[in-house]
Amino acid sequence: MALPSWQDKKLGGKGRAALWLESEVKEGNIFTKAQLRKAFPDDAQIDRRVRELRDYGWQIDTNRDDPELKQEEQRYSRKGAEVWIPGQAKVAKAKDSLTGPQRDRVFLGDNFLCRTCGTGPGESYGDGGLKLSKLDVARREVRLADGTVEVQLVTECNRCHVGSGGRDTDLGELLRVVEGLTPLERKVFAGWIEADRRTPSVLEKLWGVFRTLPEESRTAVMRAVTAEDE
Ligand SMILES: [Zn+2]
Repeated sequence: MALPSWQDKKLGGKGRAALWLESEVKEGNIFTKAQLRKAFPDDAQIDRRVRELRDYGWQIDTNRDDPELKQEEQRYSRKGAEVWIPGQAKVAKAKDSLTGPQRDRVFLGDNFLCRTCGTGPGESYGDGGLKLSKLDVARREVRLADGTVEVQLVTECNRCHVGSGGRDTDLGELLRVVEGLTPLERKVFAGWIEADRRTPSVLEKLWGVFRTLPEESRTAVMRAVTAEDE
């Protein structure tokens, strides 16, 4: 569906600010206060309206969140509730206020690891960047086996958080795939779940060695594998 225009003065300041981010800046990009003020010359409160969007699930990073940003820069990292739709803002805000203990329970349940990349809190991303990971709680839409959609909470680091909007899970489909696994596959998978990490199986270790072998040795291994079948 096409977005309403951010220039539509019938919309509130907050809705217009959100639409401006969504249609002009676009998720993942940097904007400056000067650009924002130029777009909204009549609204003296525009900085505050953008800040307030955070209460509605919008992630907007400053250089306090991300040292790679300059003082005057902010990054529009993730879209939140569509506050330009009447009624949407109120619902989103009520839903968005997680208490400290609620957040702690999510972190604890997820072993204090980003569920997308496995990074823990305050770790470097190992790419030479200055940014350290910060864990946050994200909302994930999960389609249950009966077709209903439920919002579930999950730990995500600030890097995976960027651009992960719209990620959703089809639990019913996933459970069908699990049901189709062979007993051996199930056993391996259950082991990974138990350890909360993927340990290489015997097959994967074998493959890792096999592919590095000279051809004669590969042929010997191949013969042994096919011999087992006969
Ligand atoms: Zn992550």
